[in-house]
Amino acid sequence: MTYDFDLFVIGAGSGGVRASRFAASFGAKVAVAESRYLGGTCVNVGCVPKKLLSYAASFHDEPSIAQSFGWELTAKSFDWTKLINNKNTEIQRLNGIYKNLLVNSGVTLLEGHARFVDAQHVEVNGTVYSAKHILITVGGWPFVPDIPGKEHAISSNEVFYLPEQPKHIVIVGGGYIALEFASIFKGLGSEVEVIYRGDLFLKGFDNDVREHLKQSFEAQGIQLRFNSTIKAIEKRANNQFVAQLDDGQSITTNSVFYATGRKPMLDNLNIEAAGVALDKRGYIQVNPHYQTSQPNVYAMGDVIGRVQLTPVALAEGMAVARHLFKPEQYQPVDYQLIPTAVFTLPNISTVGLTEEQARAQGFDVAIFESRFRPMKLSLSALQERIYMKLIVDKASDKVLGCHMVGPEAAEIIQGLAIALKAGATKAIFDQTVGIHPSSAEEFVTMRTERT
Ligand code: NDP
Repeated sequence: MTYDFDLFVIGAGSGGVRASRFAASFGAKVAVAESRYLGGTCVNVGCVPKKLLSYAASFHDEPSIAQSFGWELTAKSFDWTKLINNKNTEIQRLNGIYKNLLVNSGVTLLEGHARFVDAQHVEVNGTVYSAKHILITVGGWPFVPDIPGKEHAISSNEVFYLPEQPKHIVIVGGGYIALEFASIFKGLGSEVEVIYRGDLFLKGFDNDVREHLKQSFEAQGIQLRFNSTIKAIEKRANNQFVAQLDDGQSITTNSVFYATGRKPMLDNLNIEAAGVALDKRGYIQVNPHYQTSQPNVYAMGDVIGRVQLTPVALAEGMAVARHLFKPEQYQPVDYQLIPTAVFTLPNISTVGLTEEQARAQGFDVAIFESRFRPMKLSLSALQERIYMKLIVDKASDKVLGCHMVGPEAAEIIQGLAIALKAGATKAIFDQTVGIHPSSAEEFVTMRTERT
């Protein structure tokens, strides 16, 4: 049987574009359908614009630091509209690059919503295409709990396009997005209140890291309400909203931003027609080769609900392309020791086990940690401190986890992730000569075990 395409990819996010390009470079006839924006969440309403906004916020303290080094800077002012316009221009540039990457690699780009007709056919803009293999990479979509007034809340889809910077913003959630935006808005001068349902945000991160960030946020004047949820949102005049809390209190604000996780974006895909099974959480169920319950249909990226990070989707996209069209080069994705960063101010970055995970897994651990004021602040009145932590298995001397809260944490932990992948022991960390003066050198000079 002949097909219109060897591979039909639904969704041109980071992973979908990677799979399409690689498959095409291996000689496959490939189409990719995208109904929204090229580059998906990461490029349009995620990692990229978030980091740009985070850079903008990071200038908050720079004038006073510069003054401590003798510079006299004029009064600070910040223009939200200019930032958003410049950010939009950059995103459009990246959308164009994604388009060129696809077209130049011979992939057919179909701009429209794709819908399954059956397991071998997909319809886009009224045309039905047949494909030997279909790959679902439709990503996720913000989840907002069902409360009265939820239509007044914004999510990460809207926050990048707000016509005005809110003077006061309530951010709900205690994960990556909530805390990154708490830092962004605080740095840009908004009053920020974070509402989290648990005892302490960043569940799953090392407890010392969570505590350090909490203290830093409090010192910056970010209001934190733990063990709290909003039960209703009411709209008032003058673009004001009132968030009614479950404890009877209320907060008047200019914006209520929900960052309470994401759900797979399966709406209107007619996935039932393809006979693709979902798991208990509603994500697409796949085997180790990203094959769904329908053998010719594959899925990867956020829609399978494993690790919702762009570099993981890129790796999965490559694995699918190789598995299908270049099996001799196939390598499974290694989900061990995936480094990650939360671009709060200060940044958090981590690789490997937390102290709590290491102990729960039965390791007898030695803990090394360091708290210090970065040299860049030493002439200023700013008191922010860096936190670094190593978790070491006493039996093998292997470093099980590295954690950092402080400037450029992601840049530092990326290198340490290689060391951990290579199985570095604490002795190897100790034998490594530091780069002086730097913050990173502290990771190779921690000699005293925490008692
Ligand atoms: P997260 O899963 O990180 O955090 C969701 C937060 O919302 C958690 O604190 C959770 O609480 C809370 N929550 C969930 N449901 C409810 C509810 N019904 N009521 C109140 N609170 C609720 O999701 P995000 O939306 O922040 O981000 C989605 C994913 O995107 C991340 O997990 C990450 O994989 C990725 N991402 C990565 C970034 C990076 O690499 N820097 C940046 C942004 C996103 P609890 O902890 O109690 O479950």
